[in-house]
Amino acid sequence: MRLILLGPPGSGKGTQAQRLIHRYGIVQLSTGEMLRAAVAAQTPVGIKAQGIMASGGLVPDDIVIGIISDRLDQPDAAKGFILDGFPRTVPQAEALDELLKKRHIELDAVIELRVNESALLQRVETRVAEMRSRGEEVRVDDTPEVLTKRLASYRALTEPLIHYYSDRRKLLTVDGMMTIEHVTEEINRILEAIGAVEKKTPKTAGKARKPAKRAAKAAKPAARKASKSARGTGGAAKKTAKRASKPAGKARKPAPKGVKKGARTLSRKASAGSRKNSAGRVRKLAKKVTKKRAKA
Ligand code: ADP
Repeated sequence: MRLILLGPPGSGKGTQAQRLIHRYGIVQLSTGEMLRAAVAAQTPVGIKAQGIMASGGLVPDDIVIGIISDRLDQPDAAKGFILDGFPRTVPQAEALDELLKKRHIELDAVIELRVNESALLQRVETRVAEMRSRGEEVRVDDTPEVLTKRLASYRALTEPLIHYYSDRRKLLTVDGMMTIEHVTEEINRILEAIGAVEKKTPKTAGKARKPAKRAAKAAKPAARKASKSARGTGGAAKKTAKRASKPAGKARKPAPKGVKKGARTLSRKASAGSRKNSAGRVRKLAKKVTKKRAKA
């Protein structure tokens, strides 16, 4: 699975990435972390990046693209990865497209964590207080002044990526104002709905038969909806809809209890604004967001 987490500082990208890597056994590629390590080790890149990072600016594209390119070639990235903090500009996104193309791999999705800006300062303050209480070193850029600058960079340079990826039908938006647990659930639901991950088979497969039947039934309309919404939206959406109908079909066989939940997943809400979560709805939502944003 290959994902991008997109969102302003304090939106929870790092927290969610940590949870996802544990669940799916993939790696987190955080350019912020890599750069901080380079600063700590005082490598040539670190020395260049240090001042820029401390002031809340963005490190030049060629530096971060180089770092990511090297990191993608390490063996642990072969199983899949979550990009956190990269790409942060349109040229970085274009460079990433090239890097992936060269390696014959594709992104599964770009997940945007949407949050109220007013909550971000509070979140970062809480993060700082927690780090202090654990005796950890606090980031030099986690001050209200620098955060304001980081937010400004995000708005000016990173937010355009929302259009970039919604135009490419890759963008899925999650309400980042929910609890950490809920955001994770929502992301997992989305990943299942688009077929990026297998549904988790629960251990308690006891009274499985009946619910599974219902699951198959419930999943059908969702799958149909998925293909309906995919019509006329181009190959990617169609592919997604097709993939989304897979787990429903599978649900008939092993009949675990969780399949019922999984099938329901397809008809439940998927993202921030709307709570519906069928693959079709995910695509519809992606389309809606694209249209809305195109108008804006
Ligand atoms: P945040 O919590 O603000 O999202 P990160 O930990 O991802 O921060 O990054 C910290 C800093 O590292 C950024 O403010 C920026 O200076 C630098 N940085 C990280 N990733 C990138 C990138 N892709 N492009 C340019 N600069 C980056």
